[in-house]
Amino acid sequence: MTYGYNKRLGIVAGIMLLLVFAAVLITVLSGISHQDEKRVQIVASFLPVYNAAIQVTDGVEGVEVKNLVPPQNGCLHDYQLTPENVIALSKADALIINGAGAESFLGDLHSQYADLKVIDTSEGIALLEGIHHHHHEDEEEEHEEIINEHIWTSPSNYIKQIENLRDQLIRLDPVHAHQYRANAENYIAEIETVKAELAEAASSLPTKNCIIFHDSLAYFARELGFNILASLSTGEESVLSASELAEAVKTAALADKILLIYDDQYHTEYASVAQEASFSRTLRLNMAVASSTQGTDDVWLDAMRANIQILKDTDGD
Ligand SMILES: [Zn+2]
Ligand SMILES: [Zn+2]
Repeated sequence: MTYGYNKRLGIVAGIMLLLVFAAVLITVLSGISHQDEKRVQIVASFLPVYNAAIQVTDGVEGVEVKNLVPPQNGCLHDYQLTPENVIALSKADALIINGAGAESFLGDLHSQYADLKVIDTSEGIALLEGIHHHHHEDEEEEHEEIINEHIWTSPSNYIKQIENLRDQLIRLDPVHAHQYRANAENYIAEIETVKAELAEAASSLPTKNCIIFHDSLAYFARELGFNILASLSTGEESVLSASELAEAVKTAALADKILLIYDDQYHTEYASVAQEASFSRTLRLNMAVASSTQGTDDVWLDAMRANIQILKDTDGD
């Protein structure tokens, strides 16, 4: 009897041990898969879309957003892919891009990173033609069509980018849909306020005629109803050719009053253009594409609020 009792006890103990082991195993395994589900690694291509992503993912558990190109870089013209960029992309679940050709340095993403989900924030935005950069010697060469990639500089476009981002993030991480919706709604309300204040500030300017000195200002100027008399392309690597400068001077001379609008990430200014106009005002505006630091401040709202002050500042030159 004792033998049989011990045997039964042994079987019961064995079963219990097995159950405990199974329970531990299930807990461990579900813990691992749960962590995997929650950890979403997102890379944003550069500052404008990184900033947008930070706002829309604010407070969402388990989502990490990294900026691919350092914020000091500014516009992506002539940017070259680095080994660090390749590593960051290989670790990411999703890549947020501005689109409209801004990320041409990434090459063919689909063939290189088959598993990477690409979120293109430019979907549904009407694109402008870009300015051809005349920094080559041979004018006989074939010119390819250029798209103006600086879509985020128009508040209306930026709102569309936020909406695209919200919808794509919900598809990627549906568990947190309510948070993405709430963040986007709050953010869009702030952008709408800034948009109205920009329009009001622009209406107080002595003229709507302008010359813009970088492509980034085109969407911004059009949204504010400015009359762009000349679009010039200055940047880190490109200065105006003699003929472009002559054209700008002529445009300024013919206009009664004119605004000369520069993107303040570049430091070149053309005094001769200002001198030719009977009245001119030089505006150096922040197009929210460059920042000296990688903080959590909203660079888009900060930049546009600074622009509102510059537009209002009638004491300036
Ligand atoms: Zn640019
Ligand atoms: Zn050319």
